[in-house]
Amino acid sequence: MPNQIEVEVAVAGVGIAGAFLLRGLNRNIKAVGIDKREKLGYPVECGEIVPFKEEMKILLPDLEDYSLFDIPKRYESNKTKFISFTGPDGKEFVVDFKMHVVERDRMISEVAEKSGHEILKSSRIIRFTPLHSKSALKLENGVVKAEVVAGCDGANSRIASALKVRKLTVVPSKQYVMENVECDEDTVYMFVGKKIAAGGYAWIIPKGNGIANVGVGFVRQKAERGDNIIKALERFIKEYPHSSIFLKHARVLSEIGAVVPVDLPLEKTVHGKTLLVGDAASMVISHVGAGIPTSMIAGDVAARIINECFESGEFSRLESFDERWRKLMLGAMERAYFIKSLWDKISESDEKIAKHFKLLSDKDMWNILHARIPFKLKIAPILLPLLNLF
Ligand SMILES: Cc1cc2nc3c(=O)[nH]c(=O)nc-3n(C[C@H](O)[C@H](O)[C@H](O)COP(=O)(O)OP(=O)(O)OC[C@H]3O[C@@H](n4cnc5c(N)ncnc54)[C@H](O)[C@@H]3O)c2cc1C
Repeated sequence: MPNQIEVEVAVAGVGIAGAFLLRGLNRNIKAVGIDKREKLGYPVECGEIVPFKEEMKILLPDLEDYSLFDIPKRYESNKTKFISFTGPDGKEFVVDFKMHVVERDRMISEVAEKSGHEILKSSRIIRFTPLHSKSALKLENGVVKAEVVAGCDGANSRIASALKVRKLTVVPSKQYVMENVECDEDTVYMFVGKKIAAGGYAWIIPKGNGIANVGVGFVRQKAERGDNIIKALERFIKEYPHSSIFLKHARVLSEIGAVVPVDLPLEKTVHGKTLLVGDAASMVISHVGAGIPTSMIAGDVAARIINECFESGEFSRLESFDERWRKLMLGAMERAYFIKSLWDKISESDEKIAKHFKLLSDKDMWNILHARIPFKLKIAPILLPLLNLF
C-alpha cells in the first residue's frame, strides 16, 4: 500500500456493518475498506445466528425492505427451527424461532469483496483525526485521508473513542467451536444461571454435522468471588446438568474471546462527516446480544445516505442517518433494553431467576425473544419489588 492514499469514503472496519456498507456504496465513489484482519471476518467472534426473514418482520416491524435477509444458501451452515431456553432449575421454554446459522466469515468476506471497492487488509487503524475537509486515519503502514469516514470498527471502536462517545457497557464472552456435540440440530439452546453465565447467558448453536458454537456471556462483578469466564465455560461443558448432557463427548476445535455491547445505541451517530455504524454505536438487540441484523441494516442505510450526499453534493444530508436508522430499529432496541434492565434485576441469584420464570409461559418467552414486552413484564417494575418480599 502507498504511504498515503486519498479517497472519498473510508470504511473503518470491515465486519458485518462495514461489508454491508461497502456493498451498498455506488461504485463510482472512490472508497476504501480498512481492516486489521488478514482474512475478513476471521476468526469468527460470534454465535452466527441470524433470524429468518419472517422472524425479522416480527422483530423489526418498521423495516421497509426485508430483502437483506434473503440469506444465500452458500453462507449457511445450518437452519434451526426452535429456541430452547432453560432456567437454572431446569425449567425449559421451547419457542418457534427460525434462524440461519451463517458462516459469518464467508459472508463478510464475499459481501465486501463483491462490492468492487478496494479493501486494505492487515491494516490496523491506530489513530483517527476527524477534520472537516479530509479526516485522517493513521494506519501502522500509512495514512488514509477521506472526505467521509464510516466507523464500522466494532464494540471497541477507535473511531468512537477518538470522538469521545464510545459506549462502555459490554458483556465479555468466551466461545469454543466444538465437534461431537450431541444436541438436536434444529434447536438453538440458551441457558441462564449464575454458575454458568453470571449476568449473561450461555449457548449451544448447532452448525450441523455435530459441530456447534458453545459459549458463555459472563459479567465477573455479578459472579461469585474468584470465579471467571473460563471456569464458567468449562463447568457449562462438563458439569452443568442441563448442558453437559449434550457436550460430554465434545472436543474443542477453536476458541475466541470477545465483548458484546449491551447498551442503548448512541444518541448521536453522526459527527461532522463521520458516521458510527453497528457495534461501534451499540446498535444491538441488547437482551440477547444480537447485532448481526442491526449492523447489516445500519451499513445498508449508511451507504444509501452517503450515495445521496455524493450525488447531490449536499453533505449536510449525512445528518439524516440518525433519523433513518432510528425509524427502522430504535423501537426494538428500546424494548430489548427494557427487558435487559429487568433481567439485570432478577439475575442476582438462581433462586430469584427460577421464581420469576415460574410466572412465564412459552408464549411470553416467544414475545421476549422477539423483543416484544408481554403485559406481565410491562407491570414488572411494580410487581418485582412485591415478589421479592416473598
Ligand atoms: C461471542 C459473540 C457471539 C455473538 N453471537 C451473535 C449471534 O449469534 N447473532 C447476532 O446477531 N449477533 C451476535 N453477536 C454480536 C455480533 O457479532 C455483532 O453485533 C456484530 O458482528 C457487529 O458487527 P460490526 O460490523 O458492527 O462489528 P464487527 O463485526 O465486530 O466488525 C468490526 C471490524 O472492525 C475491525 N477493526 C476493529 N478495530 C480495528 C482497527 N483499529 N483497525 C482496523 N480494523 C479494526 C475488526 O477486525 C472487524 O472486522 C455476538 C457477539 C459475540 C462477541
